[in-house]
Amino acid sequence: MSGTDKPMGSAFLIDEVGSKTIFSPEDFTDEQRMFGETVKRFMDEEVEPKSEELDHPDGDFSVLVGLLKKAGEVGLLMTDVPEEYGGLGLDKTTSMLCSELIGRQGSFAVTYGAHTGIGTLPITFFGTTEQKEKWLPLLATGEKLAAYALTEPGSGSDAMAAKTTAVLSEDGSHYVLNGTKMWITNAGFADVFTVFCQVDGNKFTAFLVEAGSEGLSTGTEEKKLGLKGSSTRMLILEDVKVPVGNLLGEIGRGHKIAFNILNFGRFKLGVGTLGGAKTALEFAARYANERKQFGKPISSFGAIGQKLAQMSIQCYALESMCYRVAGYMDQTISAIDASAPDYAQQVMAAIEEFAVEDSIMKVHGSEVLDFVVDEAMQVFGGYGYSCEYPAERAYRDSRINRIFEGTNEINRLLIPGILLKRAMKGQLPLFGAIAKVETVLGADKAPLPALGEGLDRESFLVEKAKQLTIHAANQTIQKHMAGLKDQQELLMVMADMLIDVYALDSVVGRGLQLDPQASGTGLKLLATRAAVAHHYASVVGKAERLYTHLAAGDQNQLDKHLAVLDKLSYRSGIDAIGLERQLAAATIEVENYPFK
Ligand SMILES: Cc1cc2nc3c(=O)[nH]c(=O)nc-3n(C[C@H](O)[C@H](O)[C@H](O)COP(=O)(O)OP(=O)(O)OC[C@H]3O[C@@H](n4cnc5c(N)ncnc54)[C@H](O)[C@@H]3O)c2cc1C
Repeated sequence: MSGTDKPMGSAFLIDEVGSKTIFSPEDFTDEQRMFGETVKRFMDEEVEPKSEELDHPDGDFSVLVGLLKKAGEVGLLMTDVPEEYGGLGLDKTTSMLCSELIGRQGSFAVTYGAHTGIGTLPITFFGTTEQKEKWLPLLATGEKLAAYALTEPGSGSDAMAAKTTAVLSEDGSHYVLNGTKMWITNAGFADVFTVFCQVDGNKFTAFLVEAGSEGLSTGTEEKKLGLKGSSTRMLILEDVKVPVGNLLGEIGRGHKIAFNILNFGRFKLGVGTLGGAKTALEFAARYANERKQFGKPISSFGAIGQKLAQMSIQCYALESMCYRVAGYMDQTISAIDASAPDYAQQVMAAIEEFAVEDSIMKVHGSEVLDFVVDEAMQVFGGYGYSCEYPAERAYRDSRINRIFEGTNEINRLLIPGILLKRAMKGQLPLFGAIAKVETVLGADKAPLPALGEGLDRESFLVEKAKQLTIHAANQTIQKHMAGLKDQQELLMVMADMLIDVYALDSVVGRGLQLDPQASGTGLKLLATRAAVAHHYASVVGKAERLYTHLAAGDQNQLDKHLAVLDKLSYRSGIDAIGLERQLAAATIEVENYPFK
């Protein structure tokens, strides 16, 4: 990846498509590919053969824990742990590739993610030197396992309303913790928990609580729809004495830990869903070739081929969206002085810069995965509904991704919310972009470039999608001003438009960088066009929904808004059905994700 400009979060909305280099899987280094091979081998040889057993633990998680420890032995738990604490301190791209490949097996993936992500990272980024020295080398190898306890029975999305208390002892040597945490992944076997509490009633604060502490216990295993191979329990704290040295970060600053760690978790969850989706596509394509009806493989029916093509296209767009952010983070992090005393905080800030993109990946990734597993089940017909076939488990395991790491509703609120805050603080030149759209509206309607070999028309449509989104968002802000936060229905639509724009900008940005001579480029360009047809139509539809509501029955206003819509929107003229036919053939031929 080239370019000396520091990448800017949310800039996808205002930068011209293709004006900045973006990272994509074509740019993986040999080291990244080799690490990916190690992870793939581990999944093929260790996890996959135990997949069935893993998912029927009957309260015994020894197979799962054994696999996690083995993952530790081959270095898969240490990607994000700094070298000085026994980790590999790898770049975020490698860490993401690892999460993608592990995303194949839902129960293992969530266990792995809870340990390496929300379990280990609070210590990595917010721990004292003593805390890091004590825990990180052991967490990096899997000798000790970690969990993260934020949610409570009465506070989920409203995490800051937690009721668990921490009271300093009279002699000042320890805190006494009381409360109940809910839905804690890895609770059945974790050695250390990051627990969020209220100190003095309202100072939200994190503590490291060790398993085996007197007064600390867990509930029984939750009976869940999916992820049956993972451990999820209540964590009960009854007068648990926690030494003052286990205070994580500062008193009253627990929200910084909670939100920053969730940010990182969202980015990893997004790419994990990509791994799950590619796996479901693979087994659906294989089955479609094996299963015969009416004397033919069902893959030969257009209705089935179209599903496989749409699954492939959505995976390709998601892949383009995910690795782009990894590249941005690595570019930013590589410019930070590793010897700086606040290095960890600077890295955290580099990750926070892309909070909008992180939420987009979380929301879109979880919805792409749900779409893909749902279609995979349909490809399997009645067998899809049977526990004997893989579609059933994938379908059940997928659903949670829209709920945890901040529900998709909460993340949809965050997407326009953070973006607007950045604009207000002058961190994103959105107001200049609004003025530019006004200039476009004052001129004649630009002609649509001809369809051709290149991506001229697609690039043009991406720009139009951005202009429409910027204009519609601005109209919404102008109408509701400070009251916008109470207009959630409108914020949901704005979030969806921003997701579509990020998808458009990422696939076309990647497409413009493809080497015309490289094998697979032709197919990737077909996917690019198909993704543009899908996401562009979605933006136009959403804009109409928003403008129509903003006019609120005022015919004059409605005419004005619809005139803007007419000026900024086009019929793409992209033959999505034709593209899908070609992509279906490619997917069916390789019985896999066809863009490798
Ligand atoms: C299998 C599993 C594993 C989990 N692992 C962990 C873990 O390891 N650690 C941990 O701390 N937690 C964990 N969780 C908890 C998870 O993060 C929460 O379930 C999630 O944050 C949602 O909280 P809630 O369930 O209380 O739902 P609620 O917050 O009650 O939400 C219910 C519904 O209301 C909507 N809603 C809530 N507030 C708003 C709002 N302001 N505006 C619009 N809509 C809103 C939500 O989007 C949702 O649709 C896990 C949960 C599950 C099921």
